Amino acid sequence: TDFKSDKQPTWCPGCGDFGTMNGMMKGLAETGNDPDNTFVVAGIGCSGKIGTYMHSYALHGVHGRALPVGTGVKMARPDIEVMVAGGDGDGYSIGAGHFVHAVRRNVDMSYVVMDNRIYGLTKGQASPTSRSDFETSTTPEGPKQPPVNPLALALASGASFIAQSFASDALRHQEIIEEAIEHDGFGFVNVFSPCVTFNDVDTYDYFRDSLVDLQEEGHDPNDYEAAKEVILDSDKEYQGVMYQDDESVPYHEQHGVTEDMSEIPDGAPEDAMDLVREFY
Ligand code: SF4
Repeated sequence: TDFKSDKQPTWCPGCGDFGTMNGMMKGLAETGNDPDNTFVVAGIGCSGKIGTYMHSYALHGVHGRALPVGTGVKMARPDIEVMVAGGDGDGYSIGAGHFVHAVRRNVDMSYVVMDNRIYGLTKGQASPTSRSDFETSTTPEGPKQPPVNPLALALASGASFIAQSFASDALRHQEIIEEAIEHDGFGFVNVFSPCVTFNDVDTYDYFRDSLVDLQEEGHDPNDYEAAKEVILDSDKEYQGVMYQDDESVPYHEQHGVTEDMSEIPDGAPEDAMDLVREFY
């Protein structure tokens, strides 16, 4: 797509991040966006490299702090499409505080988390979403604590859109990303994005065998109680849109942030954006 940069990803062959990124690029194109009106903010980790591999305006945020950067971009330019991307370590550990507040502000952007249930870039430590018995070099008997449920955290924080997808189910993943982009507010998608190098438990085969598609089950995402039920069900792995508030009003509309700052006389924001583009 137009969103593919000329940089070759250095991800391990077979990494789930390839499929996640393809769905993001196609989803952006299908929803009528182009690289000139799209700003991708990435976190730190294997997934954090995504801003380099996508052709758009982009910024590599500080570890765990991609969401506040994305919020700033959207407040300065409510007219452009903002997509924030990161991993489970980045978003649900050091970034957990920012996650809660970005969710409750309902800023009109999408947040795609490549959840591989491990720290990949630092070579395989347990992450916030690792299973309690997941053995790693730093947790030889497993972390011995229950994993964070990011969907429940989002729901408890007042989310207006909560979804989950699987990097390898290309069309379904793309469809879910598109729904997150089109949602008026914070579109959160947790993506099962297997780490083929360090996680031999949460593999492609595991997700293929265990995934239950909510839309095939007749789930109604507008039904809050039904959403709560599937989100708190730790016995199954679900894909689909769990919850969507159709009455959602994004932050910038609630607070009258409508000014297009690209017209500021000294041209500072445009210069900054040109610099970012040159860098990548
Ligand atoms: Fe992907 Fe894991 Fe390799 Fe990182 S270490 S690029 S997450 S497969």
